[in-house]
This record gives sequence, C-alpha cells and structure tokens, in this order.
Amino acid sequence: MIIINIKSPYEIELIEKACKIVSDTHKHLEQFIRPGITTKELDEIAEKFIREAGAIPSFKNYQGFPASICTSINEEVVHGIPSSRKLKKGDIISIDIGVCYKGYHGDSAWTYAVGKISPEKERLLKHTEKALYEGLKVIKSGVRIGDIGHAISSYVKKFNYGVVRELVGHGIGKELHELPDVPNYGKPGTGPLLKEGMVIAVEPMINLRTHEIYIKEDGWTIVSKDNSPSAHFEHTVLVTKEGVKILTKR
Ligand code: MG
Ligand code: MG
Repeated sequence: MIIINIKSPYEIELIEKACKIVSDTHKHLEQFIRPGITTKELDEIAEKFIREAGAIPSFKNYQGFPASICTSINEEVVHGIPSSRKLKKGDIISIDIGVCYKGYHGDSAWTYAVGKISPEKERLLKHTEKALYEGLKVIKSGVRIGDIGHAISSYVKKFNYGVVRELVGHGIGKELHELPDVPNYGKPGTGPLLKEGMVIAVEPMINLRTHEIYIKEDGWTIVSKDNSPSAHFEHTVLVTKEGVKILTKR
C-alpha cells in the first residue's frame, strides 16, 4: 500500500500560488518563442520572471539539473538542457516549468510551435494536448490512477502515436515529485485510489512514431529512439469530489 498526501486547505492555497506563477511564466515566455532565440535566453527570461514573483525555479539543481526550465526540441521528449542552440522555423519546443513558492511546488509543461510547422507536427501537438484533457476528464474522488492512463493511451492509440512509458506524472506538493506515479497508460480500475485533496501532475509525453526512447550523452535529455518528433503537455491539478481543478490553467 502506498501513502498519498491529502493536502490541507492552507497547503492547497500555496500550491495554487506556485501554479499561478508557473502559468504566468509560460504566458510571459510564449511571446519570446521565435526563430533565432536561444534556449539559454529563454531559461534566463523564465528564471528572472520566477524570482521576481517571489518564487524559486524548482528544477534548478534538482538532482543536479543545471538550469531553471527544461527545453526539449523536436525529437527531444523531456529534460532538454537550455543551451546556445537557436530555435528554427518549423521546430517544436516543449517547455517544462516548475516553481517553488513558500515551500510548495507547481509544475506544467507545454509544447510550442516555432513559426509555421509541418501538418504532422501540428496534429501531434493538437492530439497530445487533447490526450492530457482526456486524462483529466476522468479524474475525481473515487477513481483509480489506472483510469487516467487508460483514458490517455486509448485516445492516442487512434493515431498510432507512441506513449512514452519510462516517464510518468506524479503527486506534487512539498516535494516536486511525490507519490503516486501517474503513468500515461494503464488498466481501468487499477492502481492507487484518488481522493479529494490530492494534488497530481498529469503529463502525457507522446512520440509521433515509436514509444521507445534513449538518454543522450549529457545524461539528461530524453530522445525518441527513431528521432521522430515528441510532444509534452502537463497540468498540475487538484482532485475534488466532482472532478478536477486545473491549477496551472493558462
Ligand atoms: Mg513538468
Ligand atoms: Mg511533472
């Protein structure tokens, strides 16, 4: 049996504040996403914005991660390290942002188009975002973790996309990653039970073709095995009696 934290109203308030800073940072950063900007510049803009909001970037130095946000381009799935690489027209970039406010975390990722992108990338983004909401739709008190993953993977299956299995969503609160794991696949009616007051991050990572991945030499960047494009959409949500409250709403 695993123990999952139920958050107090006070804790929820702080998590909500952290999540608000996360979505504000996304909104602020979005205007800078265009050909020519480097991912390092995006990282600097995000870090400054987060600190000015009175918070701390959760990812900085997390298990040694060297930057404030993750920037994953095209075939990079997650955990891309900001660098001097410039964005090009036609790229897609997944930006993952975590924020710690007064000891509580919020976490949200979004994949953005850089200028005009190919129709197949456009569809991948659309359906991965849709898969996230399909997963969120089933959540309420009394539902099990497997129900979420089942909703996500059965939606994505229609398009023959690959659902990444090695990386999963998670509980969140005092720690950036808490129990339970929230896989993007699963059997209905299985896994830990969700209860009112739990806070989880749901985050489908979907590859255009194979679900298989590998880790680059930098020890961080996760890449699709066949180098096909990959998308990542994530919200932090509060489980309620009737459904979810999306805390990182844009
Ligand atoms: Mg994240
Ligand atoms: Mg996360």
